[in-house]
Amino acid sequence: MNSSSQAKIKILPDTLISQIAAGEVIERPASAVKELLENSLDAGATFCSVEIEQGGMKLIAVKDNGCGMNAEDAQAAFKRHATSKISQIDDLSRISSYGFRGEALAAIASVSFVEMRTRSSSEESGTEIRYCGGKMESKNSAGCPVGTEIVVRNLFFNTPARKKFMKSETTELSHIVGNISHLALANPQVGFELKHNGKTLFNLPPNCKIQSRVSDTLGKDFFFRCIEVSFVTPSINIHGFIGEPGMPRSSKRHQYLFINGRDVTDPLVSRAVSDAYGSRLPARSWPAFVLNVDMDPAEVDVNVHPRKLSVKFSDSGRIYRDVSQAINQTLKKFESENLAFAKNPISAGKNGDENTTQAALDFSREMLMQEKREGALSNAEESGPIIVSQIADSYILALSEEGIEVIDQHAAHERILYEKLKRSSIDKKMQIQPLLAPLQINCSHDEAVFLDQALETLLELGFEFEKWSGNTFLVTACPIALASENMEKMFKSFLDSVTAEVSKKEILPEKILKTLACKAAVKFGMKLSPAEQKELISELQKTPNNATCPHGRPVKVLLSFAELERRFYR
Ligand code: ADP
Ligand code: MG
Repeated sequence: MNSSSQAKIKILPDTLISQIAAGEVIERPASAVKELLENSLDAGATFCSVEIEQGGMKLIAVKDNGCGMNAEDAQAAFKRHATSKISQIDDLSRISSYGFRGEALAAIASVSFVEMRTRSSSEESGTEIRYCGGKMESKNSAGCPVGTEIVVRNLFFNTPARKKFMKSETTELSHIVGNISHLALANPQVGFELKHNGKTLFNLPPNCKIQSRVSDTLGKDFFFRCIEVSFVTPSINIHGFIGEPGMPRSSKRHQYLFINGRDVTDPLVSRAVSDAYGSRLPARSWPAFVLNVDMDPAEVDVNVHPRKLSVKFSDSGRIYRDVSQAINQTLKKFESENLAFAKNPISAGKNGDENTTQAALDFSREMLMQEKREGALSNAEESGPIIVSQIADSYILALSEEGIEVIDQHAAHERILYEKLKRSSIDKKMQIQPLLAPLQINCSHDEAVFLDQALETLLELGFEFEKWSGNTFLVTACPIALASENMEKMFKSFLDSVTAEVSKKEILPEKILKTLACKAAVKFGMKLSPAEQKELISELQKTPNNATCPHGRPVKVLLSFAELERRFYR
C-alpha cells in the first residue's frame, strides 16, 4: 500500500553521474595516471613527466609537450563524452588512439581538485582551468609552454567509500610504476620521467631503441637473458622478447602485451605463450614476455572494458594459433642455436634418477625387513631417524622407531631456515656473512620500489645493501643461514615472487621471511650428498614447529609399523 503519489524516479545530476562513472574509470591513483598519460601520448607528446605525492593520493601531476588545446577545447575537454578522437561508431573499428570514450577527464575532475594549464602552438597564450569535485571554479588565460599540464589533488576526497579501499602508499605507487612501465614499453620513442615525494624514480630518455627501453624498464638481467621474437605474416605481426626457458617467473607480472600498441592483459595470448613453452616451463610458473601484436584494427574490439584493460578478437582461435606458432618457432630456433645445451645432461640425469628411485625403494624395503628382524632399531646409537636414502632427488627416506618416514626436503629446509631467520631477528643477534664479491642486482622499477621499502626488514635480517644507482643495488652481506653459492639466483627469485605479492598486500616482514626461506631452501629435484642429507635431518630435529613448513604443508609423512602390519594383515 503506497499512500504517496509522488513520483520516485529522478534523473541524476551530471556531477553525480560523473562520480558514479568515475568509479569504473578511475579505480585508484594509477588509473588516473594511466588515463592522463594516454591523453599525452594521443596528443603526440615526445616527453611526459609524472610527479606523485603519497602514492598519488595527495598529488598527481602529468606534464607533456604534446599538441595542447585551445581555450575552447580546454573547457570542453572536461565535459562527459567530450572527445576529439572519434565522431561516429565506425571510427571505433579503425581507432589508433588510446582514448575514445571521452570520460577520463570528466571522471577525474568529479572526484578531485584539478588544475589544467594548456596551450596549442597556434595560440599566443595558454588557458588555465580549475575544477573542484566536478564543478568548474575558474578559467583564465595563462602563460605556459605548448603542451598540457594537469595537476590532480586529493583524489576521492568526495567519495569516501572509494578512498577507504586505497592501500598503502607503496602499493599505490607500485601500481603507478607498473602502468607507466607498460606505456613506456609500448612507446620507446617517448621519454618518461617519474618522481615520487620529490625523488626521481626514473627518467627514460626519448627516442629509445626498444632494446634499451626493455633493459631500462625490466632490468638488464631480463634483457641479457631473453630471446627476440619476430613473426611476420600478411595478417599479423608479432614482435618482442620472451624469457629464456631457464628463467621462468613465479607470477604473470612480467608479461607485457600490446595489441596494436594498446597495453592489455589477455588470458588467451598468455596461455598461447605458456603452451608454446610446454614442458620447458616448470609447473606453476610463467614465462616473461614483452610482445607487440599488430593486426587489422577491424579484427579487434577495443571497447569492451571501461579502463580499456582488455580487448576482444573477432577470431580468437587464429590469435591463439599465431601466437603459439610465433613463440614455438622462436624457442626452436633458440634451442638449435644452443645445441650444446640440447645434449641435455639434465634429461640424461632424469632417467638415471628413476633407476635410483627404484633401487632405493628396493633397498629400503630389504633393509627395513632386516632391521626389523634384528631389532637393530632399538639399539641404534643415535636417537634420530636412520637415513636410508634420498629418493627422486626430492625426499629423504628414513627409518625411525615408529616406522618409515618420508621427508619433503624442500619443506624441511624451508622450516629450518625460517626458524633460524626468525630467531636471529627476534634476538637481534643476526649472524652476517660478508660476500666475497658484492652481488650486483639490476632490478625492474617495481622491484626497486619494493627494495627501498623493505630495506629495513632486510637489514634486520642481516642483509647489507648499497644503492649503486637507479635500479642497481649491491648486496654486500647476507644472513649466514642463507649464504650459498647461488646467492644471485636466490635473491632474484625472492625479489620476483615477493614483489608480485606486494601489489596485493602490504609488505609484511613475515611475508619477507617466508619468501626468503622458501627461495633459499633446497629445491625439489636437487641431489643431496649423504652428508647433506644427514645435516638436514639433524637440523630438522633441532628445529621448533618442524611438523609443517612455514606455509603449513607437512614436512614428513610417516608410514608406521602398525600401519604396515595392518596392510599386510599381520
Ligand atoms: P578521450 O581521451 O577518451 O578522448 P578524455 O576525457 O581523456 O577523453 O579527454 C578528452 C579530450 O581532451 C581528448 O579527446 C583530447 O581532445 C583532450 N585532451 C585531454 N588531454 C589532453 C592532452 N594532454 N593534450 C591534448 N589534448 C588533451
Ligand atoms: Mg583519454
